[in-house]
Amino acid sequence: MAHINAHFLDLPGDYLFSEVARRVAAYTASNPDRKLIRLGIGDVTRPLVPAIIEALNKAVAEQAVAESFRGYGPERGHSFLIRAVIRSEYAELGIEEDEVFISDGAKCDLGNFPELFAADSTAAITDPVYPAYADANIMCGRRIIHLPCTAENGYMPQLPATRPDLIYLCYPNNPTGTVLTKEQLQIWVDYARARDCVILFDAAYETFIREPNIPHSIYEVPGAREVAVEFRSYSKAAGFTGLRCAYVVVPKSVRGLAPDGGRVSLNGLWTRRQSTKYNGCPYIVQRAAEAVHSPEAKAQLREVIDGYLDNARRIKETFERLGLSAVGGVNAPYVWIHLPKGVDSWDFFDTLLTKAGIVSTPGAGFGAHGQGCLRLTGFGAGAATAEAIERLRNFSW
Ligand code: PLP
Repeated sequence: MAHINAHFLDLPGDYLFSEVARRVAAYTASNPDRKLIRLGIGDVTRPLVPAIIEALNKAVAEQAVAESFRGYGPERGHSFLIRAVIRSEYAELGIEEDEVFISDGAKCDLGNFPELFAADSTAAITDPVYPAYADANIMCGRRIIHLPCTAENGYMPQLPATRPDLIYLCYPNNPTGTVLTKEQLQIWVDYARARDCVILFDAAYETFIREPNIPHSIYEVPGAREVAVEFRSYSKAAGFTGLRCAYVVVPKSVRGLAPDGGRVSLNGLWTRRQSTKYNGCPYIVQRAAEAVHSPEAKAQLREVIDGYLDNARRIKETFERLGLSAVGGVNAPYVWIHLPKGVDSWDFFDTLLTKAGIVSTPGAGFGAHGQGCLRLTGFGAGAATAEAIERLRNFSW
């Protein structure tokens, strides 16, 4: 019998969302008439905007005609999309065409990228955190260094006491909705340069940033092009959670160490990895993604994102009126609520479910340092969010 990769046995169970689903199903079974409002969701609810639908339809029509039909595209993505990304997102940041790689999702990219590093390298990961970073490294047998992000440190992770090889940073953050200023991010870039670390910067929520002095890209920070790889996604930015498209920026100047002591460009390794294991994001989806960068789509998407942010802001204000402090919801769709001292996040989840019929996500599910907190999102429909706010008017726990 073939031996399995035993590191898979080290993975924690898929506890968070399955446990949420189990508790919701149990409640619904005994309260079938109660309409639940789901404020825990991390998926978008608004449809694709007209400018994107138009581009999709046009690309579909092209596929019906021999002259414009497209088969396999370049593994790294069509140049029309790569050029649109550079023009729209990186015009003044010095990123070149052969440093952008189109894919079908940031989750795959974030999960696949650690393949480039030695099995015994270490990864520093913030806590609480989007679970995919840790799991992808556990699958390779890596040691994880947890970086607490809490109200006490203002949600700015402290530099680790021991040097990690990889550093995962996600800003705007899921689940806390917090951001780092340019100066705060500079501390991490300087650290990575001084210690020869690679920063994996997840900017999946970049389009939600509304405040000035919050970097949209890590490459706005001097020196980042030597040490940082940036992950972006059209999922939340443009409603592509079902359509699927994302990209990674791997500057040629970001390097790792070879066994002989030589310094190897990660760009070359990622090119090799993608051309071996990936055959490219669908042509019609890349045309839709290209349209995201058009002025028409940008205006239409701004309104969609503003709607999600407005939901988040109203949710945050509602809990603040109830006497609970919260962060996030300003530059991110996530609101991170601090529960009263000593209250367990799963207990509060149950109270919110049974007393108000509202589904949330317990902070403890995102890591040990999420205990005592709750994640709510602005991704619900406006009317559902308004009803939730109404139900919470006289809420007590
Ligand atoms: N990164 C973060 C922080 C996310 O929250 C998500 C999705 O929820 C992703 C990446 C994955 O994005 P994609 O849909 O492009 O795979």
